[in-house]
Amino acid sequence: MYSFEIKEIPGKGLAMISSKSFAVGETILEEEPFVSCQFSWNASYGYAACDHCMRPLETVTENVRRLSNNNALIVPLAEHDPTTPWLEQFKQCARCKVRYCSEDCRIEALNKYHRVACMGAFYSDDTHPINMLNETWKKMHYPPETGTIMLIVRLMAMYKQSNNKQQFLESLKSFQSVIVNAEEKIYHKMLGENFELQMEQLFVAFCRAFADEELAAFTTVEAFKALMGMIGTNSQGIATSPLAEWVKKVSDLQLPDEDKARLEEYIDDIYSKVGEFAGEFLNTEGAGLYILQSKINHSCVPNAQSTFPYSNDIVVLKAVAPIEAGEEICISYLDECQLTRSRHSRQKILKENYIFICQCPKCQLQCTDPDETSEDEDDDDDMDTDDNDGEMSD
Ligand SMILES: [Zn+2]
Ligand SMILES: [Zn+2]
Ligand SMILES: [Zn+2]
Repeated sequence: MYSFEIKEIPGKGLAMISSKSFAVGETILEEEPFVSCQFSWNASYGYAACDHCMRPLETVTENVRRLSNNNALIVPLAEHDPTTPWLEQFKQCARCKVRYCSEDCRIEALNKYHRVACMGAFYSDDTHPINMLNETWKKMHYPPETGTIMLIVRLMAMYKQSNNKQQFLESLKSFQSVIVNAEEKIYHKMLGENFELQMEQLFVAFCRAFADEELAAFTTVEAFKALMGMIGTNSQGIATSPLAEWVKKVSDLQLPDEDKARLEEYIDDIYSKVGEFAGEFLNTEGAGLYILQSKINHSCVPNAQSTFPYSNDIVVLKAVAPIEAGEEICISYLDECQLTRSRHSRQKILKENYIFICQCPKCQLQCTDPDETSEDEDDDDDMDTDDNDGEMSD
């Protein structure tokens, strides 16, 4: 059914091996997440999205006005607004009022986790234990965000709602939880001194939110660390944007040269205005866990890339280099900017966040390079730096 196999490779763990050849741009896999969730700050800053699939719930005009803090901005060719169809049919949870892009998403959320996760009238009550857990997390993880404790909250609700708990646990176990690699003597940075207190505070808040006989197996220090390690090393960043979608659509239009030039000028102007106010925070962002996609290993010279072409949380894996049958399919866990850094810098990020030493062809080629950090490297020991970056969103 798939054009690849998930195989155990000695010394490396699971890997995705291609069983046919792929040309550049070809789709290798399309997958819905096991669970996904918008980032906490992203949601509280007003990036309106479907509570289930993360599809943006703003028109392109609303999006651009909010991002530029300018309510006079008018977007031309608004008939090409990609979000209009979803806004016309959006639904709400009758109890807590969270919004969904469609009745399908509302029902799916309800059947999977929202029956338990719904906070009803306490949705915006700061003293609700779930909200307190989220606030504890937010104070430790300021933007740019790379993970969210709310993925674990959703998983707990899924477990409670599941009528086949054994199967749920099997799926959960299929995500490797790595926080320590004893062989290579690597420890996840969240186990470092800087994060010790954070872990304790989060654990206390977590136990308060889930003081529940049924979840007793999850509310031990060890189980909590395993869950954190699991989302840290497996979650994939998701990014959607009404503005980017609109730009893609209108750029494909057949227009007279003069109009085309004017449109391009206008797009440049919008980007400079939103950049001035919102900086790099243009997208609706979150993270998800994907059963198959999470088995793909990292390479600093990846032959595939995870993309989100439907403006929701469905990941589409595309070849970015020709792939032969039998070859391992790899993506990059580092973003484009991180990928250009020195071998030492790349390996440091991968080691601290994903608990492995990269042995990709590029790292091997550069193995004699001095152990120096790139000049542009941020201070990775900063408290704001996050512990779970699953970033390779397009
Ligand atoms: Zn949706
Ligand atoms: Zn609700
Ligand atoms: Zn590498």
